[in-house]
Amino acid sequence: MIKRKPHWLKSNKLGARKSGMIRSKMHKYHLHTVCESAKCPNQGECFERGTATFMILGEICTRNCTFCAVRKDKKNIKPPAPDEPKNIALVARELNLKHIVITTVTRDDLPDGGANQFAETISEIRKICEQKPTIEVLISDLQGKNENLEIIFKAKPDVINHNLETVPRLYPKVRPMANYQRSLKVLQTAQEAGFLTKSGIMLGLGEKKEEVLELMADLRNVKTKVMTIGQYMQPSKDHFPVVEYVHPEVFSKYRKIGLKMGFKLLESAPLVRSSYHAEKVRPLIEKS
Ligand code: SF4
Repeated sequence: MIKRKPHWLKSNKLGARKSGMIRSKMHKYHLHTVCESAKCPNQGECFERGTATFMILGEICTRNCTFCAVRKDKKNIKPPAPDEPKNIALVARELNLKHIVITTVTRDDLPDGGANQFAETISEIRKICEQKPTIEVLISDLQGKNENLEIIFKAKPDVINHNLETVPRLYPKVRPMANYQRSLKVLQTAQEAGFLTKSGIMLGLGEKKEEVLELMADLRNVKTKVMTIGQYMQPSKDHFPVVEYVHPEVFSKYRKIGLKMGFKLLESAPLVRSSYHAEKVRPLIEKS
């Protein structure tokens, strides 16, 4: 039985008209958005703000995070689509997007973990989009293989995002195939390579306040400047149960504390997701 949602989790209907138009364009080019597959409550608003998140490398993941709605039937997994990078660039140009987020399922089945598909997508966008959008990549941990991270670094995205999702104590139940230290290492390696880095977590999975503050300190220790904190919402009764709907005041407290810790941009509220208001990072890109 899924816990009843409090009033502050009602998603806004902003941009419903525009999101319909965008959905039809995505489907015309056989593209996926994580917005749809993860049932994100902010779809309309993001599209209205000229931001969209493209999901590359298909809809089937090789991992089994218990909070995630993405499909996991590996036997139906497909090789990377050769025309996907160009199609994303064409849609981004048609929609005149200013900030593009490219995310992915985790493809442990591919030797490069999907890094080349990211690189090609970035270079197609740079080639085709005259509006010169900024590009944020939300990557998996690429199994911590530096040679695969290097492929993405060479393509020079503007922001490298990798989510910690939750506190280390909950990893065995929530992200059993991930590793907290490995994920921190991915962010550290990207930052040391000169990239603006970003990470995100969900609340409401049973984490304690001290654990969240420790995680935020870990992110600052690897010089992560951008963070998102949102409420976990159980996709179905078969997913990890919501332990708590955290009050909006708690989110604002974490934001205040985080900005004091040195985060330059910290979006923290129940409906926040990794790419929510992602375009707000643009001034930081210009500065970095
Ligand atoms: S790795 Fe990402 S896409 Fe795959 S199950 Fe976990 S959260 Fe979902």
